[in-house]
Amino acid sequence: MDSNVKEYLQTFGVSEATQRFLSKAQKMFIGGAWVEASDGGTADVIEPSTEGLITRIPMGTTADLDHAVQAARAQFDGGTWRLLKPLERERLLQRLADLIESHAAELAEIESIDMGKSVAHARDVDIQGTVDTFRYFAGWATKLHGRTVEPSLPGNYLAYTRKEPVGVVGAIVPWNFPLQTMAWKLGAALATGCTVVVKPAELTSLSALRFAELVQEAGIPDGVVNIVTGRGTVVGAAMATHPGIDKLTFTGSTPVGRTVGRAAVDEMKRLTLELGGKSPVIVLADADLPAAAQAVANGVFFNSGQVCDAGTRAYIHRSIYDEFLRELVAYTRTLKMAPGLDPDCFISPLVSKQQQERVLDYIEIGKREGAEVYYGGQPVEGPGYFVEPTIFAHCRNDMRIVQEEIFGPVLVTAPFDNDEEALALANDSPYGLAAALYSNDLNRVHGLIPRLRAGSVYVNAHSTIDPSMPFGGFKQSGFGKDLGPEQLDYLLETKAVWITLP
Ligand code: NAD
Repeated sequence: MDSNVKEYLQTFGVSEATQRFLSKAQKMFIGGAWVEASDGGTADVIEPSTEGLITRIPMGTTADLDHAVQAARAQFDGGTWRLLKPLERERLLQRLADLIESHAAELAEIESIDMGKSVAHARDVDIQGTVDTFRYFAGWATKLHGRTVEPSLPGNYLAYTRKEPVGVVGAIVPWNFPLQTMAWKLGAALATGCTVVVKPAELTSLSALRFAELVQEAGIPDGVVNIVTGRGTVVGAAMATHPGIDKLTFTGSTPVGRTVGRAAVDEMKRLTLELGGKSPVIVLADADLPAAAQAVANGVFFNSGQVCDAGTRAYIHRSIYDEFLRELVAYTRTLKMAPGLDPDCFISPLVSKQQQERVLDYIEIGKREGAEVYYGGQPVEGPGYFVEPTIFAHCRNDMRIVQEEIFGPVLVTAPFDNDEEALALANDSPYGLAAALYSNDLNRVHGLIPRLRAGSVYVNAHSTIDPSMPFGGFKQSGFGKDLGPEQLDYLLETKAVWITLP
């Protein structure tokens, strides 16, 4: 660990448990064993506010992936997991949730140090969301069943359906909510009796490795959960085509999702793709402006804009446009930019230098396209991959900053004159992950909701997420759902059984 990272951890009084975890040699978790990459390869893990080295993680190979798939396959085909009584599977998942909950402070620190995010947000959102997801799906383990049917066919039959786990699930996750996104994949998969191989993002694998220790401590059998850290282009790409994986669930960018999806379909894998977004926000003239401005700013600047369903395009009624922007700026000024471990941090550094450069490039593109920088937009002096919250005004929908996913703290805004125009602007995007409406006129809101082409619609809020509600996009934002009972459909095969009776 670099000395500037050590100093950073000391300044903010990081717990001994976290320091112990970060100072040990990191290994992958395959078939219940802790292993290095088969070729000994590792990658540096960089702390985003100091730009210093935290530790190294193994860079798994395709041979390591083969081992992990074999372990998951052996457990699924011949192990105990899927044969456990549902209540027993529920009990183990609840025990895992208990362990995550009792290590919440440590996991939040690990997530913050690894990804850069606010430690308070990590605790209240990422880790709490992880616990809630496992608890919610633990409860489903006892409620998965088919139906009996009365066929009209001549003859006498007992006809019924069985819900069976799809098999070995491969989960590829991104870096913005590392543990929580993994929980979104694993909660439902484990409840159904599937076994899993996870590939965390190479930038943020640490919480997955600490999580694997808790899986072991919870008494979940070996081979049920396997974690292979490694490059997307190596391990991730091999997962998409691996014959031992029955279902692939991918969260990440649309371009990578398209490649992964194509390969997976060739293998006839079951597939869920949770992809990018450029979610619109419509503020009607009657909205409660200070409250809406706060929610819009939180909806785009939370996690420094590295949120798939961030409300990044705000269309505001012309009669309130100027006033709303003033409210937005007044609130945005109160958001503290600081290293993630600062308890008051809201705007944390971005995850990597590359992501910082990408976002800064987009800000320059916006300026060149003629968008007005209304707030922010200036580079921040290092160290740390910080980007100022930035608000563009009077944008046109054909600008790249309006059409393309930036994945940083950048909001584009434009005025509109009537609801039809707002809808047309909102829907004019290749993406369809989420949308938000701000208004107190319920009749108008109810009229607009069905016409927004988005997987989630938030009214007078943004990113209200709960394990009981499905999450997933329309259009180029992917297909399939995470969370909610809907997710279970993507992890269960339905078998039709016909028994001829005398
Ligand atoms: P990414 O697509 O670059 O990477 C996602 C994961 O895919 C990583 O684990 C990466 O290692 C792996 N990967 C990279 N190349 C691969 C390949 N050729 N084959 C297989 N796997 C490969 O995305 P990112 O930069 O990590 O995350 C940001 C993106 O994720 C944004 O576009 C964001 O909108 C999206 N996202 C979507 C959701 C959602 O639920 N819809 C949630 C979070 C993030």
